[in-house]
Amino acid sequence: SDTQSSDDALPEGATETERLDKQYVFGTWSYQSEVSPTEVTGGSGVRFTTADGSEYIDFSGQLMCSNLGHSADTVADAMAEQAREGAYFAPGFTTEPRAKLGEKLAEVTPGNLSRTFFSTSGTEAVEAAIKIARMYTGKQKIISRYRSYHGATAGSISVTGDPRRLMSEPGVPGSIKAPDPYAYGSTLEPMESLEYIDEMLMLEGDTVAAVLVEPVVGSNGILAPPKEYLPRLKEIAHDHGALLICDEVMSGFGRTGEWFGCDVFDVTPDIMSMAKGLSGAYAPLGATIVTDEIATHFEDEMFCHGHTYAGHPVACAAGLAAVTSYQDQDLISHANRVGEYLGERLEELAAKHPSVGETRGVGLFRGVELTKDPDERVPFGHRSDKISMGSTVVDEVSAAAWEEGVYVGNMINTLIIAPPLPITEDDVDEAVAALDVALEVSDAAMD
Ligand code: PLP
Repeated sequence: SDTQSSDDALPEGATETERLDKQYVFGTWSYQSEVSPTEVTGGSGVRFTTADGSEYIDFSGQLMCSNLGHSADTVADAMAEQAREGAYFAPGFTTEPRAKLGEKLAEVTPGNLSRTFFSTSGTEAVEAAIKIARMYTGKQKIISRYRSYHGATAGSISVTGDPRRLMSEPGVPGSIKAPDPYAYGSTLEPMESLEYIDEMLMLEGDTVAAVLVEPVVGSNGILAPPKEYLPRLKEIAHDHGALLICDEVMSGFGRTGEWFGCDVFDVTPDIMSMAKGLSGAYAPLGATIVTDEIATHFEDEMFCHGHTYAGHPVACAAGLAAVTSYQDQDLISHANRVGEYLGERLEELAAKHPSVGETRGVGLFRGVELTKDPDERVPFGHRSDKISMGSTVVDEVSAAAWEEGVYVGNMINTLIIAPPLPITEDDVDEAVAALDVALEVSDAAMD
């Protein structure tokens, strides 16, 4: 049967694919009436092409996940080979890509993180992390922070702090929110927000299984805390008998110019969740890695968790090829170097455009926060009174960049810049020139 969907949102001259998609596919996180998907026909390196033949620099790496760039032969070949040899065997069997990817993750993650549970998304990686923390500690509560996103399913949306959680509330019991290290926009200084968490842990008594954080916050505005924040957070959590879970779904795999966000702070968490850059977005793949100690605990307690596609051979082949490519192409130090350059270029934009309140971040993980009043740091208004993660003005800036040949996403008054790691300084210059034009839109919208 045919669904009834208005195609008012589609542009004139929409392609057949765009029409079919609009009619038969649910758009994520959207009012379906407003969905208007653009057909993409391909990508190569840091660029992709739409059905009308236009080419764009992918300055957000799609959903901050295309860390390796588009259409890398190494990954495509590894996936095709595995699909031909045996696309799927149940998790009770093993395959070389799964075992080798497990070994590889123990190698590239810090400290004694050593055993991995595989899944198919960041959401599932976080769900597994929460379950493991609860089983290991025998406690139920999870403290996470307001300016965070951890996933869309019941547990992971309950520990998510941003407005996307609101439709799912009250959510899973025992999900408690703490303030964030957000120097630009919070009334608390970052290290004060940490003392607050210390006090929360004290007041909750010995009932908290874990503190869950993005080491560098991603979709909530690219917030990197001071150097001393994460080591102290681990200390505080452990003092209160809670684990530290680092959600590296967005900040992992070279994004910050280090392998993982927690490496920026020299911290090894007890549990780490990963996805996105793990496969460079070539396959749906999530992973949750735990320390030796936690792994050992499950020798004698049943690990009561799993999915049909846990450790899917083709996805693991993609992951193994992607992580090997980061190593072979020295992409982590490349991201560090070009990331510094990107930071400098964004500072130039901040100096020039009064509507840029702050640029911040590390490596190739940068935010440009806009304001309509730089003195009072007033954000541009939200789109509507609907649950909203953005503002019309920031959307207009993204749209203007698109007109200039650059794809850059945004959330909550902040442009989110997270390009594929192989991006060059010339590509950065090209994208920054487009942002320079686009930011005239927000300058003009100021009070
Ligand atoms: N955790 C973080 C930090 C994320 O940024 C995301 C997605 O953006 C998730 C978890 C959920 O991942 P997925 O969308 O793959 O389920």
